[in-house]
Amino acid sequence: MTLRLYHSDSTLRDFTARIVARRDTERGPAVRLDRTAFYPTAGGQPHDTGTLNDVRVRDVWDEDDGAVWHLLERGVDGDAVTGAIDWERRFDHMQQHTGQHLLSAGFGRLREAPTVSFHLGTDESTIDLDVAELSWDDAFRVEAWVNQVIWDDRPVEIHAVDEDDIHQVPLRKAPKVTGTIRVVWIRDVDASACGGTHVPRTGVVGVVKVVRLERYKGGMRVGFVCGGRALVHHQRTLRALQTASADLSVHPDQLAEAVVRLQGDAKDARRELKAAREALAVVEAERLWDAAVESDGVRRVMAYVEDLPAEQVGGIASRLAQRSRAVVLLAANDPKGLRLTCARSADLPDVDASAMLRAVTERLGGRGGGTAAHAQGGAPAAGRAEVLAALAEATDTVGG
Ligand SMILES: [Zn+2]
Repeated sequence: MTLRLYHSDSTLRDFTARIVARRDTERGPAVRLDRTAFYPTAGGQPHDTGTLNDVRVRDVWDEDDGAVWHLLERGVDGDAVTGAIDWERRFDHMQQHTGQHLLSAGFGRLREAPTVSFHLGTDESTIDLDVAELSWDDAFRVEAWVNQVIWDDRPVEIHAVDEDDIHQVPLRKAPKVTGTIRVVWIRDVDASACGGTHVPRTGVVGVVKVVRLERYKGGMRVGFVCGGRALVHHQRTLRALQTASADLSVHPDQLAEAVVRLQGDAKDARRELKAAREALAVVEAERLWDAAVESDGVRRVMAYVEDLPAEQVGGIASRLAQRSRAVVLLAANDPKGLRLTCARSADLPDVDASAMLRAVTERLGGRGGGTAAHAQGGAPAAGRAEVLAALAEATDTVGG
């Protein structure tokens, strides 16, 4: 069993120890020490990093026999080692972990929502609550209570309690371990069985901020940040708000209103654009009709319309084909390439619109199909002259 120095002093950064076992793993050499200040991944809290005799410690884990193993970047000579943990990382974990105790206590007390799991992430941390619903008002209320406890600056005490006496301790959650149980105790606030690392006083957590609420496996998942992470989160959020309000030329407080106004403006603009395009399509249809050549009593409307959306060009073709004795073949410009529509009047049953369309798409390297009265297709983008030549060749076949 490895003596866990962080259990009695979570602020210990440097220590000396002896290597009592070595192992070659797939990820590199690992050593077991007689004592260590390195926290192994457990209980939702990630492991510490640091050095043993200036060799980087990349992972730390414990095994069922109570031994703590340290994965090293390379081997270490000799059995006596000096260890140093990365304090910035450890301190951050202590802030997040202690904040989690307070937040879980708050949700349990104010909302009767027990915590079922905890994960300390690289960006934000989460607790999963066994509760069906949770509102932001609930979260704000719990947050206010938690931060008041932080500012009370209560001591965070560690007590070793024998399992026979543990029933006397008002634990938030039943312990998973037996024997001597390590209880993290914050007077009048929380008692939890926990082997993690915590700050010595609640004030050191600084602040706890809930940043996310979402449904998860029938319960609710709460994302939160504490201490230094809360400051970084606030800076990032403020930067995003400042950028958006500068772009919209409004004060951050008026951002929500400005977005609603902008959405309204965009909706009006889309409606007006649609109306204008429809009016233009009517004019364009008439222009195409007037410009079309009529021979043998059949009017051949053939054009490449580049300044209207392809959908509307297709609409023009259909509308013109509702007139008497007309064959319409139109090409339109689309971001994906050419869009082609061929349609003919019902009183020209001998004209095959589908065959005409295929003649165009084959020549332009595309594809399409439809009925004898109406067909559609597409082809890769091509030059205006090339498109017009293909359309002319196809329409020439009409009426012989
Ligand atoms: Zn803990």
